[in-house]
Amino acid sequence: MNKKEAREIPKLKLFNTLTRKKEVFKPIKKNDVGIYTCGPTVYFYQHIGNMRCYLFEDILIRTLKFNGFNVKRVMNITDVGHLTSDADEGEDKIEKAAKKEGKKAEDIAEYYAGVFFDDVKKLNIIMPDVICKATDHIPEMIELVEKLIKKGYTYETDDGIYFDTSKFKDYGKLAKLNIEGLEAGIRTEMREKRNPTDFALWKFSEKPGLRQQEWSAFMKMGFPGWHIECSAMSMKYLGEHFDIHCGGIDHISVHHTNEIAQSESATGKKWVNYWLHSNFLTFKGSKISKSKGGLYTISELEKIGFEPLAFRYLCLTAHYRSELNFSLEDLKASQKTYNNLKNKIIEFRKHFKTERIDSDENKEKTEEYRIEFLEVINDNLNTPKALALVWDIIKDKNLSESEKYELLIEFDDVLGLDLASFEKEKIVVPSEIKKIAEERLKSRKEKNFKKSDELRVKLNKLGWKIDDVKDGYELSKV
Ligand code: AMP
Ligand code: ZN
Repeated sequence: MNKKEAREIPKLKLFNTLTRKKEVFKPIKKNDVGIYTCGPTVYFYQHIGNMRCYLFEDILIRTLKFNGFNVKRVMNITDVGHLTSDADEGEDKIEKAAKKEGKKAEDIAEYYAGVFFDDVKKLNIIMPDVICKATDHIPEMIELVEKLIKKGYTYETDDGIYFDTSKFKDYGKLAKLNIEGLEAGIRTEMREKRNPTDFALWKFSEKPGLRQQEWSAFMKMGFPGWHIECSAMSMKYLGEHFDIHCGGIDHISVHHTNEIAQSESATGKKWVNYWLHSNFLTFKGSKISKSKGGLYTISELEKIGFEPLAFRYLCLTAHYRSELNFSLEDLKASQKTYNNLKNKIIEFRKHFKTERIDSDENKEKTEEYRIEFLEVINDNLNTPKALALVWDIIKDKNLSESEKYELLIEFDDVLGLDLASFEKEKIVVPSEIKKIAEERLKSRKEKNFKKSDELRVKLNKLGWKIDDVKDGYELSKV
């Protein structure tokens, strides 16, 4: 048995916040994966901290695809209902920004969503398959609230319709609220709520006509709570039971906990199988947050001379579950390493041979690297180890440049550093050239060196260089 046969293809394992364990990923349907990722609240620019979260989700999606799964990814755009406090108090963030900037709420949302998707593209993040705006799904949200009313999970106060968390026995299972000391009682003031953890499914407008965005429902004017948006839209596009739900760790104790409570109460069954959360990007030890100004956006980093993909590289150097402290020095170092990587790719590309027969020994070596890459990336997306492997390959004296190039481009399907774009022209070997090369290989094997030399000259005259490698040949343009 050779080495390759002895090593198993590593299965994809993901850390599930729900169980606090790394689990082998098993989709509900054999090869199809449904995934919902909480999207931006578009009242301001998404800062580099937010973008770290979307980069983590991109690595997850690319890894699922690399493992052969068909992925359907849904991302929402929160353009109404997210209040300045997660505890159903304060102003609607979009309305507040519209007032401040003297604009229409929908223009605010459209502008910041546009900037966000520009940054998504700059970071080479694969666009979601479904992008859904909250304001386009108000009937679905009303329908979900109605279902909860009928099932007896709600009560009405002066300012809205609330979910009674004492009626959902598993409330807090995601955040393990009591275990982790996240006592519900310290979250919010009670006001008219029956329990401190109860939350608004639907809010009534304080004075109808004052808000730009309000809808008539439940006999009054009002607007959806932030949590109901994600439950309604995810179930619309992915069904009542789907595979993965993601977001930042700040969403575990309130937003995602409430999403689970209302979704599972409405359907009476388990909602999502795997919950994945990314840790924060911090600055001098504190979370980068919009309310504190957000530090930098991707465009701002560009203005001071950094490539967005150097920021992507920086994020890959830390595991998504660890905090990553941002500094311009570290970004500078990542830009330098990314430049070195690009130079290596350009150098390897020059030697890249599309028609190549590798020796068995090298085939085994490249296969080993492929398995090693899967081992690290399938081990809960270990991007720091994946990058270390990239540099091991670059330094490996036993691999040809061509083999290195091929491996790195392949792994870039997951890393997303856009390495293939450095390839100026793809080398396509015409069939007549391939025929001559094969004929020459045959003559060499038959030890007919005279004929083999003649065919080499012929290839040269046609503009092709042929190099002999163990058991085969490599073709490149002269
Ligand atoms: P928001 O637009 O505030 O709803 O945030 C969008 C996403 O960014 C959410 O999934 C947050 O959990 C995440 N997020 C916010 N701040 C940070 C940060 N400093 N580092 C990493 N992720 C963050
Ligand atoms: Zn959400």
